[in-house]
Amino acid sequence: SIRVRYAPSPTGHLHIGNARTALFNYLYARHNKGKFIIRIEDTDTKRNIEDGERSQLDNLKWLGMDWDEGPDKPGDFGPYRQSERGDIYKPLIQQLLDEGKAYESYKSEEELQADRDAQKARKEMPHYEYEFAGMTDAEREAKIADAKAKGIQPVIRFRVPENKTYAWDDIVKGNVSFESGTIGGDFVIAKADGTPTYNFAVVVDDHMMEISHVFRGDDHVANTPKQLMIYEAFGWEAPQFGHMSLIISKDTGKKLSKRDESVLQFIEQYRELGYLPDALLNFIILLGWSPVGEEEIFSLKDFVKMYDEKRLSKSPATFDSKKLEWINNQYVKKSDEDEVMHLALIQLIKSGNLPENPDAKTIEWARKLINVYKQQMSYMAQINEMASVFFEEPEQVEGEALEELNNNEDALQVLEELYKRLQAIAIFDKVEIFQTIKAIQRETGIKGRKLWMPIRIAVTHEMHGPELPESIELVGRETALEHVKQTID
Ligand code: GLU
Repeated sequence: SIRVRYAPSPTGHLHIGNARTALFNYLYARHNKGKFIIRIEDTDTKRNIEDGERSQLDNLKWLGMDWDEGPDKPGDFGPYRQSERGDIYKPLIQQLLDEGKAYESYKSEEELQADRDAQKARKEMPHYEYEFAGMTDAEREAKIADAKAKGIQPVIRFRVPENKTYAWDDIVKGNVSFESGTIGGDFVIAKADGTPTYNFAVVVDDHMMEISHVFRGDDHVANTPKQLMIYEAFGWEAPQFGHMSLIISKDTGKKLSKRDESVLQFIEQYRELGYLPDALLNFIILLGWSPVGEEEIFSLKDFVKMYDEKRLSKSPATFDSKKLEWINNQYVKKSDEDEVMHLALIQLIKSGNLPENPDAKTIEWARKLINVYKQQMSYMAQINEMASVFFEEPEQVEGEALEELNNNEDALQVLEELYKRLQAIAIFDKVEIFQTIKAIQRETGIKGRKLWMPIRIAVTHEMHGPELPESIELVGRETALEHVKQTID
């Protein structure tokens, strides 16, 4: 049966790259009616962050994924946090020690560093050098006794088989193989405090949890031969592996890096800005995977239906923020009115442009405002910038706008006419306002820019903005009249 997992280390928040890994495992499981499991790889306690696990799970859910087993969803293969699986790892480490497939290693950090320096001087790749090479039993024991006397706690190293090839048929990359001599020597499987390292725990867990397929980032390729060695040592069958291509930032041309602050990379950041989760998910799916045909906008349900792991790309995926904006705009335009309203309202309140608890009238007004900008928005925080004319217009007409007014000899006539007629409008909406402007045109014979620019400037104090009747409606009768009067005087 098909069982796949997403195995985050809670050392950070949910990153775009992590979300992609989770998603491709999820799609594979759901498409094949298999199981999707979440396992928290939290053995590196020093690097765990307080909020890491919550951020991972919470944001996966927000994006629309669910799982069958996980730390919050007990199943038959728990516990689902590595920190709670110590009793499972211990006897297995002992087994390898007993069978001579692993050994206690006492080389101190200083000695290891000295080795690395010497290797560098010889232009060799860094690797562990066997600390008991060519020693008799007595010599070895003396060395161990000496290390113990110095208080050195041993780590456990896996004895890497000599002159063997470790190969697998990668679902994404095709045939991959490593010579055992090139992986850096006997590697650590348990730290001095007894906790297993990633490469050991991951094998034990994937085996015990009966994981059938592992889709993960390209950065793990070099770990895979080590893991294959451990499978071999236990006589277990390894899952099938698929290593997904890197993500390259279109702006920098470099690998997407968490340190590059010019690109938002954490799901939380997008959420904060009012991105629609379905849109973000759609964007992430297209990072290294493509559907058949030209169409790129689909629902998660459709993606599950059409998902085919053979369409995972070998070449790097490009993170293109323009595409992200485009996809999001597609979703905003077609999305449910209430969802957009709700999310945009949150942004208006968060920025302080609307009060904390807006009353019904304010909400009604905001609804109109949001509708005006909906077609152009990619994410909801943009409303604050786009609609700034309605929030932070200058106190009075100034600069270029003032010049424009002064150079228009018809302005005063237009504005006096406008002032009179705005008071008389029965229902203050864009339809009637439009008719009013038309009437002024008929009455005065003034038209075009000479007509509408003074109106726009007087009412909004700005030279740009959405359609004039809409703008006037949004400014509201009272303020509009006040502004016009102020300008005439
Ligand atoms: N905890 C590992 C990571 O976050 C998982 C790697 C794997 O899927 O084997 O990179």
